Amino acid sequence: MTVLATDIRPRPLSDHVTTVLRSVRHRSPGEEVFHQAVEEVLSTLGPVLERHPEYVEARILERLCEPERQLMFRVPWVDDTGQIHVNRGYRVEFNSALGPFKGGLRFHPTVDLGTIRFLGFEQIFKNALTGQGIGAGKGGSDFDPPGRSEAEIMRFCQSFVTELYRHLGEHTDIPAGDIRVGVRELGYMFGQYKRIVNRFEAGVLTGKGIGWAGSHARTEATGYGAVFFLREMLATRGKNLDGLRAVVSGSGNVAIYAIEKAHELGTTVIACSDSGGYVVDENGIDVALLKDVKEVRRARLFEYAAARPSATYVTEGSVFDVACDVVLPCATQNELGHEHAATLIRHGVLAVSEGANMPCTARAVALFREAGVLFGPGKAANAGGVATSALEMQQNAARTSWSRAETASRLEEIMREIHAHTRRNAATYAEDPDDYVAGAAIGGFVRVADAMLAQGVV
Ligand code: GLU
Repeated sequence: MTVLATDIRPRPLSDHVTTVLRSVRHRSPGEEVFHQAVEEVLSTLGPVLERHPEYVEARILERLCEPERQLMFRVPWVDDTGQIHVNRGYRVEFNSALGPFKGGLRFHPTVDLGTIRFLGFEQIFKNALTGQGIGAGKGGSDFDPPGRSEAEIMRFCQSFVTELYRHLGEHTDIPAGDIRVGVRELGYMFGQYKRIVNRFEAGVLTGKGIGWAGSHARTEATGYGAVFFLREMLATRGKNLDGLRAVVSGSGNVAIYAIEKAHELGTTVIACSDSGGYVVDENGIDVALLKDVKEVRRARLFEYAAARPSATYVTEGSVFDVACDVVLPCATQNELGHEHAATLIRHGVLAVSEGANMPCTARAVALFREAGVLFGPGKAANAGGVATSALEMQQNAARTSWSRAETASRLEEIMREIHAHTRRNAATYAEDPDDYVAGAAIGGFVRVADAMLAQGVV
């Protein structure tokens, strides 16, 4: 079936939703990704607001779109040659109705306030879907770790936390990693926090190393979770992952563990990418080699292809041009546009599970939906990472450590429950259990809205 971008029917918006969207755009000019994320959620809420006029009366939408607190700060640091740099740090504490602010930190040159607000907003619904009692926040900086020495990265992280620490706390705001923030960066930030407050407050950060109060399965959780979600979606059509061919975009933490789990469950991942290009490896991506290139050597994906005779490195076009049965976009926002979606649909793609946050554009999502492709939005499909962060917080609070098997099986169970909850809400409010976009937004929204109602006008 050929689906054209012009075939896409937008969801009808109520007057209330239209007014709120207009106000969000007016109050945050130029923050396109934030507007996109808000619109994706609000456009699904019509049937919920009809059934629950008390949400409209209590101005839940207006309050939800306005962060509780928003921090921007200077991060000065000195490089190895003695030169001074000034970056900008952010932390958007979006919503604490369900628990302390919780969400990662992203270090990337493209980071600006709009990016962090979009990510923080997504986190509200994602965290609510986990059912783990966590509120939502996000932060980061326009600092770019690649090419910087260990010492420079440490000094940057220390400077970042020297300002941010006063806003953090295990009951207040708990950061973790995101793009280009992993266990190394979190270690430097945890060390500096501990030094300033003079407390080993394990629960103030998640994604810590296993030897210093971290949790088993946290590193793998986002990628593994996205594959579990994919498995659940396919099961609704009587299909499983065995014998399928997959494309995974990205080659960072989320992508690596999505590939690992897909292989374990019988799907061959034949391509992955980085910002320079992509590799096609018909024998299946060699995960051990990929880990060595990306995690140990911190090198480019080109190095993977150079070391693997069956792999080809491609710099033209997109990884989404590679024909496959299932796709896991695990790189970054808006990486998969409607032209990629059209190509994938032409190649007969069955399902898409978003490992990254909002990697598919609104038009791409609409095309997948029109073509009957199962589409798992990031708020549900990639919630395994933050859910396992909540498991790490539980272990920290009890001063204990669960086995890898126990933590991994809890993650699997949480993903199953997120999938079921999403479908239930899609069926109830959107009258289509396959409408995972509506189901995830509504499933998260109702939990947060009810808590906000109960807690009064704050
Ligand atoms: N940055 C991840 C996300 O997008 C993880 C957040 C966390 O573990 O707090 O959900």
